[in-house]
Amino acid sequence: FIEISNLKKGYGYDGNRVEVLKGISAGVEKGEICVLLGPSGSGKSTLLNIIGGIDQADSGYIAIKGEKTIDMNEKKLTRYRRKHLGYIFQMYNLIPNLNVKENIEVGAYLSDSPLEINDLLKTLGLYEHRHKLPNQLSGGQQQRTAIGRAIIKNPDILICDEPTGALDYKTSKEILKLIEDVNTKYGNTVIMVTHNDAIKNMADRVIKIRDGEIRKNYINEEKVCAQDLEW
Ligand code: ATP
Ligand code: MG
Repeated sequence: FIEISNLKKGYGYDGNRVEVLKGISAGVEKGEICVLLGPSGSGKSTLLNIIGGIDQADSGYIAIKGEKTIDMNEKKLTRYRRKHLGYIFQMYNLIPNLNVKENIEVGAYLSDSPLEINDLLKTLGLYEHRHKLPNQLSGGQQQRTAIGRAIIKNPDILICDEPTGALDYKTSKEILKLIEDVNTKYGNTVIMVTHNDAIKNMADRVIKIRDGEIRKNYINEEKVCAQDLEW
């Protein structure tokens, strides 16, 4: 479903050049939850941003459903991102003067078949908070809103970079459970970067990177539900 082929990416020039990704190849199947682990600075966000079409590799390619993103022109890539990809980050980046419902509706822009907003608000546990502004919400409620914004277009691929990085233990588990519920209900392929080794237990596939190379890539045979994770 997602093919990653010999991706290389570096930053800087000449003497200051740093190779961040040194030839990454992997595949992710449709509907999988793929957890990407690795130490700080190992290139996880860089890889995720290239998969998500918001950064470009120096060489190698990403193919999604057989179509290489490097062969798309800027217009097609933009359209592709808007239609098929949802993004969730550590920082929620909500629009401060829009309420919960309106922030989520922003994500439906250009979508052919968005999810029904009131159903989605209920799934997210936000229905009774729908008229609140971001500064009237807890961190967990803000992240739920950001998840809603990412999934309202029912994207093929949900890109999550440290989605629980700013949350406490209990709220983190609730958010992970929500991502898992979304994956089960809508079948979106999830690629999630985390520092937290325990989160790999809820994955279908685990990829570990270190110093810009893949060190492990395996199917997790002992998958556990997000609410049973412990760390
Ligand atoms: P973390 O777990 O801390 O988020 P990460 O694995 O996501 O780390 P990346 O953000 O992918 O790491 O960064 C990998 C390396 O690339 C780091 O050494 C970083 O300093 C460098 N880097 C990332 N973006 C840039 C940039 N735009 N210009 C220069 N160097 C960069
Ligand atoms: Mg990162």
